[in-house]
Amino acid sequence: MTERIYLDHAATTPLRPEVRAAMEPYLAADGFGNPSSLHADGQRAKRALDVARDTLAQALGGRFSEITFTSGGTEADNAALVGIMLARGRGSHLITTQIEHEAVGETARFLETWGFHVTFLPVDEQGRVSPQSVADALTDRTVLVSVMHANNEVGTIHPLREIAGLVHARGAYLHTDAVQTFGQLPVHVRELDVDLLSVSAHKVYGPKGAGALYVRSGIAIESLLHGGGQERGRRAGTENVPAIVGFGEAVRLLLPEREAEAARLTELRDVFLAELRRRIPHVVLNGHPTERLPNNLNVSFPGLDAETLLLALDRAGVSASSGSACTSGSIEPSHVLTAIGLPEDRVKSAIRLTLGRTTTRDQVGRTVDILANIVERLRR
Ligand code: PLP
Repeated sequence: MTERIYLDHAATTPLRPEVRAAMEPYLAADGFGNPSSLHADGQRAKRALDVARDTLAQALGGRFSEITFTSGGTEADNAALVGIMLARGRGSHLITTQIEHEAVGETARFLETWGFHVTFLPVDEQGRVSPQSVADALTDRTVLVSVMHANNEVGTIHPLREIAGLVHARGAYLHTDAVQTFGQLPVHVRELDVDLLSVSAHKVYGPKGAGALYVRSGIAIESLLHGGGQERGRRAGTENVPAIVGFGEAVRLLLPEREAEAARLTELRDVFLAELRRRIPHVVLNGHPTERLPNNLNVSFPGLDAETLLLALDRAGVSASSGSACTSGSIEPSHVLTAIGLPEDRVKSAIRLTLGRTTTRDQVGRTVDILANIVERLRR
């Protein structure tokens, strides 16, 4: 049997063996301590959390005390939005975009039902939000602006720095969901000029069940979870020590490789697109042609149906997706592609191919062959 080709790294990435090895002691009988316990077993776990927190702080350019560990990207996004809005009270205003991941979009909608005002900004045909539209939406009641660093479906990168200047000039905070960028681009809170930032371990070859929220010190934020005083009172509950240790190790391994790997993936992605265009008539790229994630290809095959394409790809041994993992499997058209204003035949035929560390030139070539055959058969 030929090996499967995994092209869904935006949904999740495989755990690196080194990360698993780093986690193992904390899953075993001699490393199971509760980091809040004062005895030696607890303190060993506490030290492991400290190391991971230090790694995250350095990677993001923040301070040790500005990092709160969460259960993942979703919780980090919820903690940022709900935490800031609750701290300011009902009637305050949140600005976000129409193409956020559900972890932000649905949280914003939830806040609306509790009496907060929310503006969902439109994006252009390449999936970018314009800084001017942010400026126009800001009011004296705006507390928080949440704009993702790069979109998980089409890979478009937003002009965050420009947006930050405008947001701060009006005295509001800027949150960004950097879940998709952290593994591929420099993500530095001072350079991006953001006040809150979310990341997730399983998108950077770490384990599922760990994430982090950066909150600039001095910002008042309510906690989502109440109970013990873990995470400096920001998030009650005994920490998921093995997963957080794995997150730290994944980030430690990521940093020295990130730039070269991003360059490799950009090249591979461009070859992939060029080959698809050469072999298959009427392939259209969705999202921005250059301001996009190194590993992301989102392409439409007008006239065909994405579900059918994905099932055929799966049968041929290729894992791809039609959008975010949470919405694939449902027949709802993607809110991202719809917000971009794509015609229906492009929305319905869009598939997302996301490359990663183990993707090779050979796998790309084989996937092009497979897709060309599938498309030809379906169009016939
Ligand atoms: N934000 C973005 C942009 C994502 O792509 C994802 C995962 O698909 C999430 C948030 C949610 O992260 P997690 O799966 O860690 O909850």
